[in-house]
Amino acid sequence: MTNSDAHRIVIVGGGAGGLELAAKLGRKYGPQHVLLVDKAGGHIWKPSLHEVAAGTLDIHREGLSYFMLAKDCGFTFIFGEVQAIDRDARRLKLKPVFSDAHDEVFPARDIGYDTLVMAVGSKSNFFGTPGAAEFAIALDSTDEAERFRLRLLHELVTANRRKSAEPDYQLNIGIVGGGATGVELAAELLEACADAVFYGLNDLDPAADIRITLLEGSDRILSALPEKMSAAAQKLLEDRGVTVKTSVRVAAVERDALVDSEGSRYPADLCVWAAGIEAPAWLAGLGLETNRINQLVVDGSLRTSDPVIYALGDCAQAPWLGEDRPLPARAQVAHQQAGFLMDTLRERIKGQAIAQRAFRFRDYGSLVSVGHSRGVGSLMGVLSGKSWFVEGLLARLMYMSLHLMHHLAVLGPVRTGTLAIGRLFMKRGAPRVKLH
Ligand SMILES: Cc1cc2nc3c(=O)[nH]c(=O)nc-3n(C[C@H](O)[C@H](O)[C@H](O)COP(=O)(O)OP(=O)(O)OC[C@H]3O[C@@H](n4cnc5c(N)ncnc54)[C@H](O)[C@@H]3O)c2cc1C
Repeated sequence: MTNSDAHRIVIVGGGAGGLELAAKLGRKYGPQHVLLVDKAGGHIWKPSLHEVAAGTLDIHREGLSYFMLAKDCGFTFIFGEVQAIDRDARRLKLKPVFSDAHDEVFPARDIGYDTLVMAVGSKSNFFGTPGAAEFAIALDSTDEAERFRLRLLHELVTANRRKSAEPDYQLNIGIVGGGATGVELAAELLEACADAVFYGLNDLDPAADIRITLLEGSDRILSALPEKMSAAAQKLLEDRGVTVKTSVRVAAVERDALVDSEGSRYPADLCVWAAGIEAPAWLAGLGLETNRINQLVVDGSLRTSDPVIYALGDCAQAPWLGEDRPLPARAQVAHQQAGFLMDTLRERIKGQAIAQRAFRFRDYGSLVSVGHSRGVGSLMGVLSGKSWFVEGLLARLMYMSLHLMHHLAVLGPVRTGTLAIGRLFMKRGAPRVKLH
């Protein structure tokens, strides 16, 4: 064991899975046993990043401070980015933290662990596409989502100015990837652009002057989900003016266009890349088993090839019991894995023998938001095993309840309720989209 007698569980990454685990464990075992490390100071539920990018959700109102959560939930929070792990000494190496003015806020540190849980998530995979890293924005973090939002505001103002001199001018937004992120972003942008124009951009007609193009490599959008959902989502997007192109492989990203493998060009003043994920590259250098997208390969109990290191969520390749493929990178998976690890970690804290158990994913279906009053989804009947198609406001409300469930797991019912009511009132006093 490290410094004190308390068995230290260190969780790296306070996202959809890691934060829920830290909160649940912290409430039971306290800050001596449970430590959470994150490279950001504040938490936001990653599936809402497309709303941050569109400006319909304000990170300064929605974000939760890890320091506050640590105090409330009984874990220790360590602010810093893990860059390496000394597995023999069981120590994490953290980079120093600098302020915006480049002053050192925290020095480089070493943190000891007895049990380590890796929950560092994933980032967009550019698949080596020329120009993608330079010209496309990926919604991997709040910083990137904010960067997109500010670029969007800038482009809208520029388009409004240019319209008076060039009546045919159009603002083109290109989205690469027709998975949940790309589809949700396209729908959110439609509404956000219309709302932004409402605040003084009088020369712009969003329906005619803003063109959103969604390019997808496979033959349908939302290809991991049932065909009925793909068809419904595509129709909803096209009815509202989004151009959806399937079976298009983007071969290059240029400053003002996307170019496909046939050489066709799609104008794009702003480009978002949402076409696949990979785990952080440094995971492949830990001496643990990893796959070709750097995910840590874990067994059914979520243990890596090092018996004291576990991994969950997007950074892990975990077996899907009953299926011949690994579990998908979804918030629902990370959430359930966090719950599953509780028993194993309790045994490790108490020094008991670790019981054999295997994670079984219960697929409750998928929901995709296609605007503020619409959604599409397929819900799995837990008992019948059949799936039902849901659409419209009901699907949108169910989608919103997923975010609420995450807050409930982290904040508990009273705080979640108070926060929800508070935000409802604050919305009344704010513009429909964040304008500054
Ligand atoms: C726009 C968007 C929409 C999505 N919509 C859906 C949806 O509708 N439904 C769904 O199921 N999934 C959705 N997803 C996917 C979902 O967000 C992820 O599957 C989920 O967040 C994974 O959870 P996680 O805990 O593995 O990682 P994350 O939630 O990504 O958290 C990882 C954490 O690790 C921290 N971290 C990373 N590296 C380090 C380091 N070196 N040191 C310290 N900390 C580190 C990060 O700061 C972050 O807090 C969406 C994703 C995006 C981007």
